[in-house]
Amino acid sequence: MKAGNALAEALANGRFFWSLEFIPSVDRILRDDLTQLGGIAAVMRGSDRLVTFAVTDRVVSERDPEPVAAAASLGDSTGKQPLVHFSGKGRELGDLERVIGRMQANGLENMLVLTGDRIKLEPVRGRARYLESVPALAFARHLMPRALLACALNPFKYREEEGMAQFYKLDRKMEAGADLAITQIGFDPAKHDDAIDWVRRRCPEARLVANVMLLPAARARYMRKHALAGITITDSLMAMLEAEAALPREGAAARALRRLALQIVGVELAGYAGVQITGLHAPERVEALNEAVCKAGHDCPDRASWNEAWQDALTAPDGSRADPVPLGARWRLGQRGTAVAGFGERFRYRALEGIHRAVFERGPLAACFGAAMRPFHGKEGTLAGRAIHFIERAVKAPIVGCETCGQCRLGATQFVCPETCPKGLANGPCGGTTLNRCEFGDRECIHSVKLRLAAAAGVEEQLGSGLIAAVPAESRNRTSWPSHFAGDGTLAERRTDERDRAVRGPV
Ligand code: SF4
Repeated sequence: MKAGNALAEALANGRFFWSLEFIPSVDRILRDDLTQLGGIAAVMRGSDRLVTFAVTDRVVSERDPEPVAAAASLGDSTGKQPLVHFSGKGRELGDLERVIGRMQANGLENMLVLTGDRIKLEPVRGRARYLESVPALAFARHLMPRALLACALNPFKYREEEGMAQFYKLDRKMEAGADLAITQIGFDPAKHDDAIDWVRRRCPEARLVANVMLLPAARARYMRKHALAGITITDSLMAMLEAEAALPREGAAARALRRLALQIVGVELAGYAGVQITGLHAPERVEALNEAVCKAGHDCPDRASWNEAWQDALTAPDGSRADPVPLGARWRLGQRGTAVAGFGERFRYRALEGIHRAVFERGPLAACFGAAMRPFHGKEGTLAGRAIHFIERAVKAPIVGCETCGQCRLGATQFVCPETCPKGLANGPCGGTTLNRCEFGDRECIHSVKLRLAAAAGVEEQLGSGLIAAVPAESRNRTSWPSHFAGDGTLAERRTDERDRAVRGPV
């Protein structure tokens, strides 16, 4: 396709824009969205505001068609460069390389790289693997130096640990090469403000885009029932939507549309570069939204009038008011001191740090151990290498949950093993936590633990800098000790200008 890149132009000119999201899926209803696009394609072609459309990857299932073909064909019919999503679910760097190759062959220039939510089709044997967004972004930037790269951010977090960990990970994504961040869907304007606040202070060249969604009661019910990762719909918000659903149909629909329009006006006032609109594809509904946004913009020229209108929009027909903030959890960016590591956590951290220094970094013990290990570098597959692998796993598994990934990252992850994250993430959390609980529901998110430890040790800034390499499949189930002492280990302190090695990991 030879379309101009209207998204890049809007970002460069600071012109507030809209993007529509499409979900390629094996599911019939969603597939129809992509095959019956005549009307919306014409609307997009003629609109200055609708500068792009996003085509998602592996949202409904891992069997969903890869988005490149749909994005290229939609791009041809709309005349707009799409934003192609790439999800790391069940993928390796080689998969990303192949997708980028197909994008380049089709003239596609914009990409959003994310880790993705929990895999639905777990492998029969072994654990599911995820390609982490941070090294994937660095690799995509390396392969596409002039592309527009986007990443995901979930600012809708209500505990200090999970909230700060999200923002530090955003720093790493920007360091890896992202140009803009697109938020998770959320209904709390204070969190949109927090994200803007962080970006302005930490990475002012980055742009933020808010993901917004029309939220009638039926959709909210579905999202709560399926516990969609990282999306917060509180009980009081749900109650308000149910009260609204009891109104005559037009009344309920008009209220939902007014709220969406207010969200769009609100994020523009807050300083966002644009919005990505989810779940709205019919031309007449896009036109109705256009009118609703014009009216909301006219009603709310400033934040004070907008706040009043937003409170009205959250007030149920019976007068009760919805609160988008979960009960008892009101953490905001800037509030510090609630993430306090316990004595046991601090003791464990200090003990492991001391052992790590003495055995792997400096001093006579490290010198002796290094001299013993170095000769086995490159011989990890031999009998001797396998014996060392056995010993490493026997020592480390009971202490840190080690799975001998062959590329030990403990020294860069506050001695919390990334393999104890169900997605194996080392650079920071996915967006799926709920009040520090893991998306998988069975543990506290390891990155919340890391935040507490880093804060207690006074090394919190480490969470936002240095890229931790992706673990290549071929290095798994091997010892990491010989390569560590040969200088091929990981580690996080590689900077952006060493990106090639960082994403490739040890060779
Ligand atoms: S431990 Fe944290 S980063 Fe890992 S899957 Fe759970 S919520 Fe996501």
